[in-house]
Formats: sequence, C-alpha cells, structure tokens
Amino acid sequence: MIIELYLDANATSAVLPAAAAAANATMQDCFGNPSSSHAAGLRAKALLDATRAAARRVLGAARGRVMFTSGATEGIQTAVLSALCAVRERRLRGISCGDLLLVGATEHKAVPESLAHWNRLLGTGLELRTLPVDADGRHRLDLLRELAPRAAFVCTMAANNETGIVSDLDGIAAVLRDTASPALWMVDCVQALGKLPLALDRTRIDYAPFSGHKLYAPKGIGMLYVREDAPYTPLMCGGGQEGGQRSGTENMAGIAALGAVLGALEAGGTFRSHAGLLACRDRLAAALRQAFPDLVWNAPLAHALPTTLNFSVPGRSSKELLDLFDAAGVRVSAGSACSAAKTAPSHVLDAMGVPPARSAAAVRMSFGPLVDDAFVDAACARILDCGRALTAASAPAGLQQLEDGGASGWLLFDPAGRECIAIDPPLALAPRIAADLRARSCRLTACFDTSPGAGGADALGELMAVAPGWPGRPTAAGAPESIALGQDLLVRNGNAFLLGRTDGAGLPGHAVRFVFGVMPHEALIAATVLCCHRMGEPAVSRPGADALPEDGMHLDAAAAHALLEANPDALLVDVREPPEHAAGAARLRGRAAQHVPLSQLAGQAAAWLDGAARPLVFVCRSGNRSARAARLLRGLGHAQAWHVSGGLALAG
Ligand code: PLP
Repeated sequence: MIIELYLDANATSAVLPAAAAAANATMQDCFGNPSSSHAAGLRAKALLDATRAAARRVLGAARGRVMFTSGATEGIQTAVLSALCAVRERRLRGISCGDLLLVGATEHKAVPESLAHWNRLLGTGLELRTLPVDADGRHRLDLLRELAPRAAFVCTMAANNETGIVSDLDGIAAVLRDTASPALWMVDCVQALGKLPLALDRTRIDYAPFSGHKLYAPKGIGMLYVREDAPYTPLMCGGGQEGGQRSGTENMAGIAALGAVLGALEAGGTFRSHAGLLACRDRLAAALRQAFPDLVWNAPLAHALPTTLNFSVPGRSSKELLDLFDAAGVRVSAGSACSAAKTAPSHVLDAMGVPPARSAAAVRMSFGPLVDDAFVDAACARILDCGRALTAASAPAGLQQLEDGGASGWLLFDPAGRECIAIDPPLALAPRIAADLRARSCRLTACFDTSPGAGGADALGELMAVAPGWPGRPTAAGAPESIALGQDLLVRNGNAFLLGRTDGAGLPGHAVRFVFGVMPHEALIAATVLCCHRMGEPAVSRPGADALPEDGMHLDAAAAHALLEANPDALLVDVREPPEHAAGAARLRGRAAQHVPLSQLAGQAAAWLDGAARPLVFVCRSGNRSARAARLLRGLGHAQAWHVSGGLALAG
C-alpha cells in the first residue's frame, strides 16, 4: 500500500497530534459546560478563557472582540450581517455611508455569496461591485481609489486559497485612509494564520474571520475578530454564550484543539519559519519543473504564500494530472476544493486574466507549516515519478477512443504503434493528438470524417503538422477506398468505414470487426462493434445486442473481491489511463489487475465478447470510469460486467 502524501493543505489539514489529544482530554475529562457554575463548568470556563487569551496574543488583538465560531463561513456571515445592519441603520438616520459593497474578484465564494444573500434579505439595496485584480492576482488599488469614497463595505482576503497570492493589505488600508472612505473593512484571514504575521490591533481591519481546520485544528471550529468600535450584530441568539455575541454551547473539544495549535504557534519550534517554508516550496517547484518541463506557474511565486503552488501543464487537463498524482499517492487539487468536482475554469485565475484553457487545467499543490524535510524529499521523488510516468506511458495499440463534449472520435494504430488513422477527431483535441503522435514518432496516415462537420476536417490543420504522409483530402468523399494498417484493412463503404483482418485480397464481410459511421445493414454481423461519433448516442454498440440492465453492476471492494475469488476465470481490469497505471499499479486486496485504459476498451471489448464471456470486474481511481466501462460492456450485451464502486480510493 503506497503511503499517502497530502499536498492539499489549503483545502484542509490533518489534526496536530497535540490538538487531537487536547480535544480528547476535553471530551473525556473537561467536559463541563463553561456556563455552569459548578467546578466542572469552571474548569471548562478556564480552558475557554485561556484559549481566548492565546488567540488574542497570536492575532495581536489585545482589544476588540475575539469569539469562537464554527469556522470562517460563520465568521464571514457574522461580519457581513454586522456591517450591513450598521449601514442600513446609518442610512435610516440619514448618514451617508456609501452605496457599494466592494468585493475582491478572487475572494472565496463564501464572501460574495454572503454579501448577496444578506443584501437581499436585509433589503439594504447596495450595489455589489467586484474589485478587479491585476495579472499577479493583487487588488487594483487604482480602481479602489476611485471606488473607495462610495464604498460602504470592502471585503478583501489576506491570502488567496487557490493561488496563495498575498494581498497588499497596507496598500488597501492606505487607499481607504487617503480617500476618507466610509467603508467598513473585512479581511478573510483564513489562509494567513500560521503563515503570515498578524497584528490586528495595529490595522484598520474591522472584521477578520479564521478557520481552525486550515491549520491543524479540527473542522467545525473558527474565530472571528471584530475591531473594538466596529458595529456588531449577533448571527445567533439564545443562551447568551460568548458574552451574548454568539449563542450556543461552546464547541469545547474544538476550542481545546485550536488552543493547542495556538499554543504551538506561540511557543515556536513546532511549525517551520517563513524561510524554512520557502525552501520547501522551492524544492517542490524545482521537482515540478523537472518533471513537467512545459509547466507554467499561474501565479507569481514572489507574491504567493510560501506554502502554495498553482500551475498548469500545457496539453494536460487538471483531471488528468490529478488522476496521475493520485495514482502516485500524492493528493493535490484542481483550483479550490469546493469546485474540484467540476472541471470549470477557476474564477480566481479567470479574474487574473489567465487564458481559459490554462485556468481549467490548473493544479494547486499546498502544504502546511508542519512540513518536514523527509516529507519534501518523498514528495519530490513522487513528483519526478509522475513526470516519468507521463512520458513513459505505453503507446496505445489498436483502437483508441477520443471524447470531447459528448462526441467521440477514434484513433486506429498499427500493432507497432507507428502508424495511425484518425476518424472524426474532435477539433478541441487536435493539438493534444498532434503532440502525442509527435512524441511517439507515430505517423498519421489518414484522417476522415464519417459525416460532414464531424470534426476531422477542421482538426486536420493541427494534425497536418504530424501528417507529412497525408494521402488525400480529409472528407469521406475524397478518401481512398481502403488503407492497410498492419494486417488490418480499413475500407470505405459510403460514409462508413469498416475495419477488420484482410484476407490478402480485401475485407470479407465476416471479417469486419469495427464499423465507424452509419453502416448499411447487410454488412453487419453480430460480432461487429459499431463506433459512433454522435452526441447523445452510445459511442459503442453492437447490432442486435440488447443492452443489459445495470442492476447489481456496482460492487463494493469486499463484494468485488469475493466475486473474483469465487470465479477463477474472472478478470480484474484497471481502466485508468497509462500514466496513472505507470505511476502506481492497481491492486485489489493483493490481486493485480490487467490494464486496459477506458479509452482503449472498445477495441478490447470485441475480444472479450468472443466465445464464452468471462466475468469482468473493472476498477479505477474513484469508480466513475469503471462504472462507464461496466456500462459499456453491458451495453454490448456482456452479462457479467461489474465494477468496484468508490474505486481504489475506498478499496483500502
Ligand atoms: N475563506 C477562505 C480563503 C477559505 O480558504 C475557506 C475554506 O476553504 C473559507 C473561507 C471557508 O472556511 P470554512 O471551511 O471554515 O467555513
């Protein structure tokens, strides 16, 4: 079992052992309610007070309110509610206090969403305006200078969670001061704690939310600082805890754990210094550059937290890179954790003017200040392994499926992987295909469309770069009647292309194994696999085969293992892409898997459907691709296709 290297600290962190111990001790021994007047309550109250005192010292906030919350999202709500209630009240009294809610373009979604929500709910009627950032991700102070006199509330962050870009808070404060802005000011300090010096008393900041789980405390505990004379409206009312500022019995286990982290920050010796963190980041950055020579940084390292790297690798999607890192046991994320499930471009990188393709392909690597040299050594070695896996990944053989936006294209390779025919290649993938073929020294011998506008004709321009031997025009009409590929022959029939083993003279009907495009019925036999390019239709199908139901297709790891044990002829198939396989072979309870990437499954399916179909259990990283593989086989009429739901991530 490969040891996991967690490099996603901006999403959340592990819990510091001392913090876990403090939480546990609190739950076991110091479980009193701090509002109770008996000894158990007094002990809990003492812990609460001591933690608050430590927080004040660490935040440099001897004055003002420091209260415990459930996390930064609650702190943000409270700050927004407080500011908007104050603005509403001032306006009712006829005091001019601005008409804009100014929010930094790269804020965490919790900020603009809360502003819009409370502005609507309170009927404040302020205009929500985005404060743009420059190409380095820093706030446009020139625009702030223009808008500050009209700003009722300004929200900026101390450091960005996706890029690590550190804001120029002194510059913002100076603009607010110089323009005599009436604005209240919130600074989201979530990513700053433990990584940047804080002296809140000495700033103009009115509200500063923090979150424990970004710095080795558990999830569900946070802090909110409110400047001494800043307006305040409680978000939660009830028993009057936290001096009536935030009702609800305190999360004492969380507070104790946060207290242990604050204690470690104060005492020193646990967390690495700024310079130490920079040295770690430099080493990781060097390993990344070596592993992926084309890599581009999406944010200037000079302005970023010493714990965050954000990059893209041209021609590689973030999903592809994440899958690769995950296979190597390196946990990183695409943009922010909240949007990692979607492959949408990052709003942060978009705001910085990063081109959409690069923004959608961004990868964030982040670590916490507990990092040590052994961890960095191991991470650098794994990063280099990933780079090697990407370049050394085995050449595709046979038939490879290309997918883009629901449509499919196909690449046919000769057995040696030196010659390739492209059918309906999606335009968007053309640069990638061209680069892959070039890297493999593979010659493109032909490129066809099965119907007008299928993509191949447009993609041709890109592909021509690697197709010096191009035989004819790109459309079906102009294509040659047949092209040999190893022992196979590709034969044109109207707008369709038939592929099968040649008998030397031609392609007999019974030898046709694959059909691309719409095929006249007489040429179809049951063993033929139809490869379609159209959106909304199954990419792969078989004439006359009834798609089998998906019921029972999903097996957990234990059930998959039992099925494989009970059926000696059953095959475990890893459907991850070649670089992932190269970075870490898939095993299920010690059993090795045969590797057939999802993109090559259609080619392999024909062989699996021949004769007595053997049971197939597909596995991948998370269960998505393996479910598609099982579905594809069932769609072709294979009754014994299953997959491991939850994938290798849950297989233990
Ligand atoms: N602000 C920033 C900059 C963050 O990174 C996060 C968490 O991702 C939040 C706010 C929300 O914090 P929490 O999860 O504590 O509500």
